[in-house]
Amino acid sequence: MIAAAELAERLADTRHRIATAAVTAGRHPGDVILLGVTKTHPPELCRMAVELGVEDLAENRVQELVAKRPEVAGARWHLVGRLQRNKVKELIGTHVLIHSVDRRSLVDELSKRAERAGVVQRILVQVNVGDDPAKGGCHLTETEALVAYARARPNLAIEGLMTIPPMPPTGVDPASAARPQFAALREQRDTLRERFPEVAHLSMGMSADLEAAVAEGATMVRVGTALFGPRGEGPWRKDPA
Ligand SMILES: *Cc1c(COP(=O)(O)O)cnc(C)c1O
Repeated sequence: MIAAAELAERLADTRHRIATAAVTAGRHPGDVILLGVTKTHPPELCRMAVELGVEDLAENRVQELVAKRPEVAGARWHLVGRLQRNKVKELIGTHVLIHSVDRRSLVDELSKRAERAGVVQRILVQVNVGDDPAKGGCHLTETEALVAYARARPNLAIEGLMTIPPMPPTGVDPASAARPQFAALREQRDTLRERFPEVAHLSMGMSADLEAAVAEGATMVRVGTALFGPRGEGPWRKDPA
């Protein structure tokens, strides 16, 4: 785990990257929310991040998120990884923003569980803009139908769209490879927003390509390695007491 001083330095650098990209694009840096992606890292590091002002933390596995959440006070949590239907019940009622809703069966389960719990579940619809078989997300052309389907559920609030671009081929700059996909997601969001004004967020951009995402209008960037250094071997687990 990196030391607090190193995290502070990496954070300053990351915030500077975001601010520079925003200003260059004529945007306000404050309109981009920095999500610290803490997968594999221990709760101590999450608490350090919160203390330094990174209050939005993201995980890609439900189990890891649910185990870490009680150990970190003051954080807002995001699930950015694939979600299985049988894990939905563990998330409902925990105020996690789910970025990875990409199919009707998942919408059905989320809505059923949220209704039972008497809560409104906030979600983003994940779009596989690059048609990458290794990534989740609905097809770009299915986005509007899926958003409309989810929107008909009173216990779901669809707040925007998310995408993960494919890994660029070796030697290709990740930001230039991803930029057209970020632009396509923004166009889709703009179209949807005319009908559904609450579809506002664009969750896109990671350590290697956040400048391109901010240039194309990202409102949430998901940054792991650039903030926290290399990831651990596997998911963090709470030691059995
Ligand atoms: C791990 C992960 C990230 C962060 O990736 P880095 O390249 O380490 O910044 C962002 N989004 C998702 C969905 C992830 O799983």
